[in-house]
Amino acid sequence: APRTVLISGCSSGIGLELAVQLAHDPKKRYQVVATMRDLGKKETLEAAAGEALGQTLTVAQLDVCSDESVAQCLSCIQGEVDVLVNNAGMGLVGPLEGLSLAAMQNVFDTNFFGAVRLVKAVLPGMKRRRQGHIVVISSVMGLQGVIFNDVYAASKFALEGFFESLAIQLLQFNIFISLVEPGPVVTEFEGKLLAQVSTAEFPGTDPDTLHYFRDLYLPASRKLFRSVGQSPQDVAIVNVISSARPPLRRQTNVRYSPLTMLKTVDSSGSLYVRTTHRLLFRCPRLLNLGLQCLSCGCLPTRVRPR
Ligand code: NAD
Repeated sequence: APRTVLISGCSSGIGLELAVQLAHDPKKRYQVVATMRDLGKKETLEAAAGEALGQTLTVAQLDVCSDESVAQCLSCIQGEVDVLVNNAGMGLVGPLEGLSLAAMQNVFDTNFFGAVRLVKAVLPGMKRRRQGHIVVISSVMGLQGVIFNDVYAASKFALEGFFESLAIQLLQFNIFISLVEPGPVVTEFEGKLLAQVSTAEFPGTDPDTLHYFRDLYLPASRKLFRSVGQSPQDVAIVNVISSARPPLRRQTNVRYSPLTMLKTVDSSGSLYVRTTHRLLFRCPRLLNLGLQCLSCGCLPTRVRPR
């Protein structure tokens, strides 16, 4: 029988793409419940699903921030969820001084507690049946901090700690956890963030910090998306879901790995912090070459690719 896959945040981006790829599986291994907060936005998904709509893909309402919405959605599903994909998420960038606590809490409510809420709802069924797979769209920012993404990175670190802990217990129940860690992916995500920061004033922030944010970080971030950004199609989560032994962690972008390696090779953490500081504040070539800067000679020899 096909496995029931419930995915959050399918009105756009990675969630939409994953839902469509699974629904079009040539072997018809999946019954996809593609959920979204606002069903008014279902047209793009439905168009992309094509003939799969109503066959291997159904669309349902789900706001990960609402207990009622989660309960309502799960009660409508025939049978149990075999694979849960926690994809819904939002970003937040900017100098800390200019961001409200409410905005930060909203990020945690969505990115962290949204996933926790769904897991609590599906876990008893998975444990009873002694099978299941929980996939979490984390980020490379769940592995290492990125300047001006303090709160977003914290929400992804929280997911990493939570699910790594849970993975140990769940092995006992034959339930797998997979944290997928993309680098930049070209979706509406970045556009939403840029729209947010173009009107934000970040009150209470000193001029130096504002200058670093607007004149160094924002252009560098745009360049990074352009130079190493993946498409949602490239994120290849289907491989993780179809795997007989799903990995706990899967980075999706080899072109970003020079940056993630910096943390792996130096457990004190200073190589990563100093190098990324240098990339942004000292090496203007970053703006032209993106991550190729890692081989341009401005980095310590031991982190340069051979
Ligand atoms: P996106 O903005 O296209 O998709 C995010 C989806 O989550 C949207 O459809 C949005 O409506 C939905 N969502 C937000 N709050 C919700 C809520 N309360 N309930 C239900 N749905 C809600 O962006 P994306 O890039 O496809 O992001 C998907 C996931 O990938 C996110 O968790 C994001 O953090 C992660 N990610 C994105 C990137 C990137 O560069 N785009 C990189 C790494 C990880």
